Amino acid sequence: MADVIVVGGGPAGLHAAYLLGKEGFDVRVLEEHSSIGSPVHCTGIVAAEAFKEFDIQESTALHPLHNVRFYAPSGTSFEYRTRDAEVFVIDRRSFDQQLCDRAVAAGVTVTTSSKVFDIRTDDQRALVVTSNGECFQCRIIVLACGADYVLQRRLGLGVPNHFLQSAQIETRSDLLDAVEIHTGKDIAPGGFGWAVPVIRNDQSYVRLGLMCASRVDHYFANFRSRIGKQWNLESSAIPRRKILPLGPIPKTFGNRIIAVGDAAGIVKPTTGGGIYYGLVSASIAARTVTAGLRSNDISSSFLAQYDKAWRNAFQAEIESQLMFRKLATRLNDTEIDQLVALAKYNGLRPLIRMTARFNHQRTLINAVLGHPGARRILLKELFS
Ligand SMILES: Cc1cc2nc3c(=O)[nH]c(=O)nc-3n(C[C@H](O)[C@H](O)[C@H](O)COP(=O)(O)OP(=O)(O)OC[C@H]3O[C@@H](n4cnc5c(N)ncnc54)[C@H](O)[C@@H]3O)c2cc1C
Repeated sequence: MADVIVVGGGPAGLHAAYLLGKEGFDVRVLEEHSSIGSPVHCTGIVAAEAFKEFDIQESTALHPLHNVRFYAPSGTSFEYRTRDAEVFVIDRRSFDQQLCDRAVAAGVTVTTSSKVFDIRTDDQRALVVTSNGECFQCRIIVLACGADYVLQRRLGLGVPNHFLQSAQIETRSDLLDAVEIHTGKDIAPGGFGWAVPVIRNDQSYVRLGLMCASRVDHYFANFRSRIGKQWNLESSAIPRRKILPLGPIPKTFGNRIIAVGDAAGIVKPTTGGGIYYGLVSASIAARTVTAGLRSNDISSSFLAQYDKAWRNAFQAEIESQLMFRKLATRLNDTEIDQLVALAKYNGLRPLIRMTARFNHQRTLINAVLGHPGARRILLKELFS
């Protein structure tokens, strides 16, 4: 019987597996796809701090992104430039592959083409059944299957309260001079569209994506034709669609089971970005599982400390981002225009420069809500 089975070979699962392998446990990762890191459903923007914090080689980072331009529905824009290299765009396939290689070097077994279909637990063990008909026994399961909530629902862990639909392509294009964020009810109701410049082997590409509440194919097609002309996009790529969780599942642990990363909905609610939060949750999970296996207590009540620990790390941040998302979603196009104009002409830039951090947005949100003009727009009900 293995000590740990990790369901899903994305960043969160592979990082948890690596840390547990390093502790000397017998760990197996089951990944449904035939290769790690593929297919890619991610724009791959990662803050510089993640490389240092998780000891990940920067070789998977393609280049830094210094410029971002926010487009209001009217077309007016606000540009923000960072002096230092605060965020990078990564090659997501080689990022995941690197996490896999080091897990394997730590003694972890990674089995691909192995989709977990059912999970059962009792007082003695956990049982994992794959759609190939294989059956694995282990002491504890780390559920790291990403934004797919069939198993969580079946295990009584629940599903996130908030979702958006997303679609993305990566395709050849002219070189964009900034990350572009496009907003408005005709672009992406409830979300936004993005265009991220990528340079790979001296050739320029764009990762063009969109998240919205519904009809993602329709909005993505419109967005693509709008941006396509401007940046000379190659038009043949087929968009990859995926649901985007925007908040945690109600319960991230159970008897002999712990959920990490997107599988637990531990992401940034403003954007759905989850690589960094997923890695942090994997580290916390690995610490709890290590203590539980060593003390031979992997009951639900012991594993509750994982839920408490990751909420200590992120709950306030997640709640602040959810609140901001709610306020932003209620803005009409005129109000978004006003907010972008405010950022452009009226003193928001220094606040952003002082408080913006890619993974921790609460200070920026508080600062924006403390600005009288921005507060009037965002908290409009209070002022009407
Ligand atoms: C369009 C888009 C753009 C994004 N851009 C960014 C970004 O720029 N920055 C950022 O930080 N985040 C971004 N994200 C979010 C980011 O991709 C996720 O937060 C991150 O991949 C979560 O990692 P994970 O390991 O939890 O899950 P995943 O990376 O989804 O990995 C889960 C793995 O489990 C496997 N799996 C699923 N079910 C099973 C099963 N039953 N049995 C076996 N294996 C299974 C899957 O094949 C997958 O390999 C984006 C997401 C989308 C959709």
